[in-house]
Amino acid sequence: MNNFMLSFAGADLSRLRTLVTAVGKEIALAPGATAANSSTPRSALDTSWSSLVEMLDLGKEPVARECPTCKHPCAIGASRCGHCWTSLPPLKARETAAV
Ligand SMILES: [Zn+2]
Repeated sequence: MNNFMLSFAGADLSRLRTLVTAVGKEIALAPGATAANSSTPRSALDTSWSSLVEMLDLGKEPVARECPTCKHPCAIGASRCGHCWTSLPPLKARETAAV
């Protein structure tokens, strides 16, 4: 098996999650959605899609970012931790645009 690695972060990861969710919904709504016959092309598509989503292992969309000092969850756009008042690193422009 090839060692193949994709790495996404911030806004790219968020966009990828959105796209995977959208494609999954389209597949679920596509004709032939019944999985009664396991040898149909449709069920092969469902199986392949599930395997791909599992392999991507994107996790859930984070609603907050973590303070680097105390690990307290902070609002994504916060400039300081509300718990320990540590100054949080500024978001990259693309991350800010995605919020
Ligand atoms: Zn903190």
